Amino acid sequence: MRHILVSVLAAFLSLLPLAAQTPELSKTVKEFVRADASKIILTHVRVIDGTGAPAVEDQNVIIEAGKISAIQPGADASASPGTTVFDLRGYTVMPGIVGMHNHLFYIARPNLNAQKKFDPPVLAPQMTFSAPRLYLAAGVTTMRTTGSVETYADLNLKHDIDAGKLPGPHLDVTGPYLEGTESFFIQMPHLTSPGDARQLVEYWADHGVTSFKAYMNITRAELKAAIDAAHKRGLKVTGHLCSVTYKEAAELGIDDLEHGFFVNTQLDPGKKPDLCSDSAGEYTLDHMPPESPEAKDLIDTLVKHHVAITSTLPVFESDAGGGRPPLRQQALDAMTPQAREAFFILRQRPPSSPPPKIDPALLLKRDMELERAFVAAGGLLLAGPDPTGRGDVIPGFGDQREIELLVEAGFTPVEAIKIATLNGASYMGKENAIGSIAAGKNADLILIKGDPSKKISDIENVEIVFKDGVGFDSQKLLDSVRGRYGQY
Ligand SMILES: [Zn+2]
Repeated sequence: MRHILVSVLAAFLSLLPLAAQTPELSKTVKEFVRADASKIILTHVRVIDGTGAPAVEDQNVIIEAGKISAIQPGADASASPGTTVFDLRGYTVMPGIVGMHNHLFYIARPNLNAQKKFDPPVLAPQMTFSAPRLYLAAGVTTMRTTGSVETYADLNLKHDIDAGKLPGPHLDVTGPYLEGTESFFIQMPHLTSPGDARQLVEYWADHGVTSFKAYMNITRAELKAAIDAAHKRGLKVTGHLCSVTYKEAAELGIDDLEHGFFVNTQLDPGKKPDLCSDSAGEYTLDHMPPESPEAKDLIDTLVKHHVAITSTLPVFESDAGGGRPPLRQQALDAMTPQAREAFFILRQRPPSSPPPKIDPALLLKRDMELERAFVAAGGLLLAGPDPTGRGDVIPGFGDQREIELLVEAGFTPVEAIKIATLNGASYMGKENAIGSIAAGKNADLILIKGDPSKKISDIENVEIVFKDGVGFDSQKLLDSVRGRYGQY
């Protein structure tokens, strides 16, 4: 009898057009849910819509069945069965962050000491437990994994998040790094030929991977084979390059380039085709001011070939010294004691180490100038923190920091927010569903105390993160990973 009732109910539910959108949430996920009514009204809230338009004061945003159903002038509303009302005077709502250089692993340096020395091999332990929670807590509702180490774990995580079993953002799972025969990382595949590159792409595309990333020592022929194979499946390829220059990659058809303009090697002394240079791009960055003919030609080529650039300012910030990045108690609390120790070691330059060849503060400034010139020329700039690249960039916190650094680069706060939301959605071809606040779009939203359109650091004051209309409590998510990041 019970069995029949259940199947009758299931048949009935399947007829409802909208009811099936949000999956049944597990006990684990429900623990973090603060709002899950069929109708939620955010009243008297400031709206930053993610398009770069100025903030609009005192609005009501209505969420129904996981979508934004309307945006109206602010008005009082009363709660009723099935309707939750938030009074949000003093709060801002913005679109969920679309993190385009995010990772689900940590970087462990065995036996790291105060001189920043460590033993090989560097390892990338999976953070399948802590990272998704930290991202969601910070307001990241969609992210690209931008190179995977345990690809099956990332694919299964995506499945479990989508099925409502585990908390976390929507994932664009990137395949294993497409790396050449030489590599700093022992866990990456080492491609041996263009055919090998094609096979790897086809295998992982068959298994559900939705993007690919080329790495520092790939050859042009391997990169071309990978791009062609991915494009055949309608998938995109990005790259953290060195052996291949930005211009070469653009002409081969790459879709995106990571790390702003930091890793373009075209002017590096002694650069040989298909081989990484000693400078790994710093020399080129130093010798390419935005007004130079080389910069103009490069930006022109990138824009013409529709190549996006991903800004990852947080991963370069600590090199500039001067107490960068500012410490955040919540970020320190998220880490294991060992990760915290590594964080403090890695953010300082030991007195015994020689000064860098090129002032990192100048390089950071130069990259910021080029990112602005790229956007001014019509280029699509994306945003991501590259968490753990240096041990001092943390999932989620780093995504917020990236937006703050885009403002330091000279973008207005609403432009910086657009880069971190709608631009990523557009790159992924999802701009009709996510990335901005508009009626009909998915209710992927962040509730922030304060006004980041005036004071960008208010972006750190995230209280509730809506994903498909379900509101997650940011603090509860953070509390659940306290002392775990760096372990699992
Ligand atoms: Zn990275």
